[in-house]
Amino acid sequence: MSLIKGWCPDAWHPMAAGDGLLVRVRPTMGRITSAQLQGLCETALTYGNGLIDLTSRANLQIRGVSEQDWRPLIARLIALELVHADPVMESRRALLVTPDWQAGDDTACIAAEWIDRLGEFPDLPAKVGFAIDAGPTPLLTGKAGDFRIEPGAMGGLILRAAGRPTGVVVTRSDAVDVLLAMANWFVASGGCDAGRMVRHKAALPDWAQGDSVPATPFLPLRPGRHPLGFIYGVPFGQIDASTLAELAPHAIRLTPWRMLIAEGAEGVAIQGLIRDPTDPLLRVDACPGKPACPQASVETRALARQIAPYVTGRLHISGCAKGCARSTPAALCLTGHKGRYDLAHHARAGAPPQQAGLTRSDILAHLGVTDAACL
Ligand code: SF4
Repeated sequence: MSLIKGWCPDAWHPMAAGDGLLVRVRPTMGRITSAQLQGLCETALTYGNGLIDLTSRANLQIRGVSEQDWRPLIARLIALELVHADPVMESRRALLVTPDWQAGDDTACIAAEWIDRLGEFPDLPAKVGFAIDAGPTPLLTGKAGDFRIEPGAMGGLILRAAGRPTGVVVTRSDAVDVLLAMANWFVASGGCDAGRMVRHKAALPDWAQGDSVPATPFLPLRPGRHPLGFIYGVPFGQIDASTLAELAPHAIRLTPWRMLIAEGAEGVAIQGLIRDPTDPLLRVDACPGKPACPQASVETRALARQIAPYVTGRLHISGCAKGCARSTPAALCLTGHKGRYDLAHHARAGAPPQQAGLTRSDILAHLGVTDAACL
């Protein structure tokens, strides 16, 4: 085991968190079969603390794993075909696909070929990832992807590098060839020193300098009925394995929006999952906070549940100035500092506050929340 602090690239390189090791799982095509889901939940309960995170790259993180339990956990995940037995191959499986892909469509075919040809790709920095968003309208715009296949505004598909507004036309049959050429160019042109494509300032090769703009993004998915089944929201992107196991009669698809698609599901109520697309918790970003994170000086998620209905727009509560849960400004941002909250409007965590040193009662008063309303 190679332990990495502060970053969790894959299951073979777990991250040390306040509650134990954090082990990332990257299901193939973002889909977990019913049998895999049952096994995953049992594994998280046996070897972890039972908590599972959904990440912004549509992966899962099993939390609270001890160092001695990491190896049997990995063996179980390999047996479930949720982790590659070869650590090098696992490190390359950084792929985000549009979650509502259908068998035989462009996303499914390109992603399947990309997976088959992983051995041809060079080693890339841990944070570099690919996005295949080849449906009729892009869904993953703004989501992580150093190299992305997406629909062009004029129809067809384009390959676009992060940080570049336009891309080059590709087809279903040559998309992976072009992705591979782009990855090789990235390495040969010193991209590994930059770490991410968006920071790599070298001019693209001539063949990659297309002027095709991407199509207008479609709205992200929302909880409720979906042609594939039913979409459930996951508050704060964290779920108990026992709750997740209630979906095990179904295969699930992971999304980068803290939501799951349960294939063929009718949408029965499940305690702890969101079915209502207007639920205020869908507008909240809150990191684990105190006591889960050693850097946190304040509690975050209980307060978020309490005040979310009283906040208009996005609410971000961060246990410290690092702002792990959200990197962009929120309409209301509360940042923990020395056991109190700093309040800022339209700001990121750690931004200069409009009001500093607030207690929880101060925040409730600021929002006009009576204690009775919180009961
Ligand atoms: S923002 Fe701070 S308190 Fe919250 S998870 Fe990140 S490091 Fe911990």
